[in-house]
Amino acid sequence: MTATIIKYRKKSHALLSYEALFRRIIKEYLRKESIIAYKREKAGYDGERNVDYKLSTYPHKDFFVFQGIRLVNPPFHFQIDTLILTNRFFCILEVKNKQGIFKYDSRQQQLTQEINGEVNSFKDPILQAEAQKTHLTSWLERHGIFSIPIETLVVIAYPSTIIENVTKDPDVYNKIIHNESLHQRLDQLNAKYTNEMLTNPRLKKLCQTLLHEDIPLKANILQEHPLTNEHLIKGITCEKCSQHPMKRLYKKWQCPNCCAASFNAHEQIILDHFLLHGTTITNKECRELLQINSPRTARTILTNMGLQFSGKNSARKYYSPRINDFPQNSIFPFHQSSKKMPDSY
Ligand SMILES: [Zn+2]
Repeated sequence: MTATIIKYRKKSHALLSYEALFRRIIKEYLRKESIIAYKREKAGYDGERNVDYKLSTYPHKDFFVFQGIRLVNPPFHFQIDTLILTNRFFCILEVKNKQGIFKYDSRQQQLTQEINGEVNSFKDPILQAEAQKTHLTSWLERHGIFSIPIETLVVIAYPSTIIENVTKDPDVYNKIIHNESLHQRLDQLNAKYTNEMLTNPRLKKLCQTLLHEDIPLKANILQEHPLTNEHLIKGITCEKCSQHPMKRLYKKWQCPNCCAASFNAHEQIILDHFLLHGTTITNKECRELLQINSPRTARTILTNMGLQFSGKNSARKYYSPRINDFPQNSIFPFHQSSKKMPDSY
């Protein structure tokens, strides 16, 4: 039996939003900055997934794993890449996805990378993980859990990344590890902590509380980049020929150009609206989004998607699903064939 996954990793709101943006944006407005920001977000996600895989094969079912969690210690939020709970100790993983050759200086508490004679410096990952530990400790205390040992590990997601321990500080070898040695390091910690600090029912209850108090970070990428509705395609784009908008016929959408038909083409665009514009949609906004006239059609569409709602008639608002419930496999765009996305997609 392998480690028990309590919470599976989901794409972040920012990552889902970039995917939505690339589906919706009029190609002339697509900027390099958006692509770079997307790539950074995606690299973080991919690195974490690498570590998720390794950890999911760790042969101890009494290791409870949260693949990413964000909690609040008012007024601060803190995010942990991976949290492992056992009834004897907890462990925070800070995942690093950067590739290349780095130098870590424990005296200076500095991580640097030299590329083409230029030195870039990064936040000390050990200090970052320690900061998460401080936050988690006070979160746990507020929930009545005291003095359970918390370990921190900086996990390098890719084997090709080299971290040179400049000062040969032995502690650094224990704190910054490669994904490949994760099992071995967890074995050491498992052997080190033998005293039961929490009963199993208490630990299970804690897992439930953590799940309940997880607050994923919301991004507002239109504001960040900055873009408005004017930069987005109006109506549904045909998947076959990229024309838009598709026309609403009885119970289906049809492309005026190639006659391709779809019954549910509106679902993706409504979900994209939630990612880009916020957590609600009205009947009027839906009509504008889908380029249709009939309030009745819009109501049927929104109701059939099973969205929760509040209010009556024109004041009715339909609510976005929770971020963790969004489809993870949305096809990455790029239907607008004249402008190819970079190869690394
Ligand atoms: Zn078409």
